[in-house]
Amino acid sequence: MNQSIYITTSIPYVNSRPHVGHAKEFIVADCIARIYRSNGRHVTFQTGTDENAFKNVVAANQAGISTQEFVDKNAQVFQQLVKELNISADTFIRTTDPRHRKGVEKFWSKLKSEDLYSKSYEGLYCIGCEDFYLEKDLVNGQCPDHKSTPDKVREENIFFRLSRYQEKLAKLIEADVIRIIPQTRKNEVLSFIRQGLRDISLTRDKSRSSGWGIPAPGQPGQIVYVWIDALINYLTGEGFGESDKWEDVWSEDVRKIHVIGKNVWKFHAVYWPALLLSANLPLPNEIVVHGFLTANGTKISKSLGNAIDPLVVSKDFGVDPFRHFLLSCLPIYGDSDFSLDRIAKVYETDLANRLGNLYSRLTTLCEKAEINLQFSNAAKSTPEELLKSYSLQEISRLAWDEIDKINQEINQERPWDLLKEPAEPQKLRHLLTGWCERLYESANILSPFIPETSLLIRRGLNGEQIGTRILFPSRK
Ligand SMILES: [Zn+2]
Repeated sequence: MNQSIYITTSIPYVNSRPHVGHAKEFIVADCIARIYRSNGRHVTFQTGTDENAFKNVVAANQAGISTQEFVDKNAQVFQQLVKELNISADTFIRTTDPRHRKGVEKFWSKLKSEDLYSKSYEGLYCIGCEDFYLEKDLVNGQCPDHKSTPDKVREENIFFRLSRYQEKLAKLIEADVIRIIPQTRKNEVLSFIRQGLRDISLTRDKSRSSGWGIPAPGQPGQIVYVWIDALINYLTGEGFGESDKWEDVWSEDVRKIHVIGKNVWKFHAVYWPALLLSANLPLPNEIVVHGFLTANGTKISKSLGNAIDPLVVSKDFGVDPFRHFLLSCLPIYGDSDFSLDRIAKVYETDLANRLGNLYSRLTTLCEKAEINLQFSNAAKSTPEELLKSYSLQEISRLAWDEIDKINQEINQERPWDLLKEPAEPQKLRHLLTGWCERLYESANILSPFIPETSLLIRRGLNGEQIGTRILFPSRK
């Protein structure tokens, strides 16, 4: 069965510039999308930006420009990053797009009326997280993520009876109808649900945002809570509220995959499915929860002042070395430390030496021996068994192990000696053909990881002039 795939990233807030954590999520989702495509699946891949947050109003005020101007400017930086990182997204949805608003209104109208009620609410609100905190979840009275004191907020909001969905959600997740990957996150979500779900507020008082955001339909003075509006992007980006096109993507027949960070599973694995159940819409099939990047052991974020600009890293090292580092050198699920020194090291060992040298040696030998080879592009597909857990490191290792084996064999066989012994042209031809074929196949496997390099290698092995044989000049 060749099931179609719909894959999304979460949509980042645009109140500050992108950091390497955003790059990791874009690149991980892109790699999965590309693997499915090369396995012959029909893939729709969506990303975008989350622009209706209160914190944009605050940041725009500080910058002395209008909120719209502010989000336009910052959304453009994220679009530039998506392009720079070679992210093969089909759709980029901005939540200030009028078509998104229409879709949010339609979604709201589909929620069961008995699931909604109005209630006065008082709570501690962290504007950085755009979320309420319970006293017990604060650390020394501060948000554990933003190290800031949340605001005490009291207002009349529209609430959603999340509590009604507790049993149903637990069963769906337990049975992997909604599969949460990895297992440790699944356990975490289940234990959160079993502790008891409290109803959640779906709206915020308009005065708190100076009117910024999507008005809650039929609720004057209320706007839709930014997290609720953001989740609906997975439908509106594909035409929900505008046409029937979204049904091709968000249907029971399509495998719907959300790639998210570990800080937002509550929204994606609990709130979102409950809202979909209330609206009588299909549920996501897989939620892939990746770990964080740290810099010297602390979470990377603009507010902590240790952000590394992914646009700069990509320009400096090249997009493929950056992608290779994030996908093949760091685990997808655990937290890992990001350092420029480590990328520089990996650039030399993996790209310049293991791969780049092998490619130069083989193409030079072929030229000297006057051997012209042709390989077909029929890619060997990635075993779907490995895709079950999205072990991207394991998948790329298939190619890297093969690359190491070819390098070892070349060192043993000493083909440059055979070049000087024209008595044995068949042996040299046989060896070179085998090595080139295996490098070609390895490049195919690496295509979702380092797409530009993979293409250059495959074209070069087929005798096309690609300019230079040094793919990765040493930076030392
Ligand atoms: Zn916070």
